Amino acid sequence: MEKLNQLYEGKAKKVYSTNDDNYVIVSYKDDATAFNGEKKGTILGKGVINNRLTNHFMKMLEENNIPTHFVKEISDRETIVKKVEIIPLEVIVRNTAAGSFSKRYGVEEGTILNQPSLEFSLKNDDLGDPLINTYHVLSIGIATQKEIDTIEEYALKINSLLKEYLLKFNVELIDFKLEFGKTSDNTIVLADEISPDTCRFWDVDTHEKLDKDRFRRNLGNEEHAYQEMLKRIIGE
Ligand code: UDP
Repeated sequence: MEKLNQLYEGKAKKVYSTNDDNYVIVSYKDDATAFNGEKKGTILGKGVINNRLTNHFMKMLEENNIPTHFVKEISDRETIVKKVEIIPLEVIVRNTAAGSFSKRYGVEEGTILNQPSLEFSLKNDDLGDPLINTYHVLSIGIATQKEIDTIEEYALKINSLLKEYLLKFNVELIDFKLEFGKTSDNTIVLADEISPDTCRFWDVDTHEKLDKDRFRRNLGNEEHAYQEMLKRIIGE
C-alpha cells in the first residue's frame, strides 16, 4: 500500500491517505499536549511507543472478538488502519477515581470504585470536550440508541479484558479514553489509540504513575514511564 497525502494533523498523530480508499495510515508524533492544548511539549520516543503499544492492545482485543480499526504496523511510528468516520465522543471508563472524576465528585484520587464507571464527552476542542449524556447524544443525533448500546458493551468488555491483561505485568488500569468509528458498511469498530497518552496506568505495588499524568502534572521522568510500559508489556 502506498502512502499518499496528509489528510489531517491532530495533537498526537497525523493521518495520510493511501491508494486504497478503505485504508489510511496513521503516524504517531512525539508531541504532547494537555489541558486542551494549553500545555505543549515533547516526550522523546512517545510516538514509537504509543504506536507499538496501541497495536499490541488492539491485536489482543481482536483475539477477544472486539472489532478494531487495526490492519498492519508498517514502521516504528506508522500503522495501516481501516478508514472510519469517527463518532465524536470520548468514551471514558474508570475503575479507580482520578483526574476530573475526583475533582468533579469529590472522590479522593485512588479510591477504588464499586463498579466500573462510563461517561461520554463530546469531542470538540472549541467547547472543551464537555460531558454529554445519552439523551443529549440522541437529541443532537450524534449516534443512535443501538450504536450507543454497542459502544457501551464494547467499552466495558475492553475494560475487563485490558484490566486483567495488564495485571499480569503488575500494572493497574485506573481509567482510559476510547474512540469508536464507523466503517463504510456502518460497522462500529474501536479506533484511535490505547496508550499511556489515553490511559492511566499505575504500578500495582508502588502506585507509581506510568502515563501522561507525569507530563500533565510536571512530575518528570515521562520518557521513562513510557519506556517502562513498553518494556513491561512488549519486553523491550
Ligand atoms: N483522556 C484522554 N483524552 C482527553 C481526556 C481524557 O485520553 O481528552 C483520558 C485520560 O488519559 C484518562 C481518562 O481519559 O486516562 C480520564 O481522564 P479525566 O476525565 O480524568 O481527565 P483529566 O483529569 O485528564 O483532565
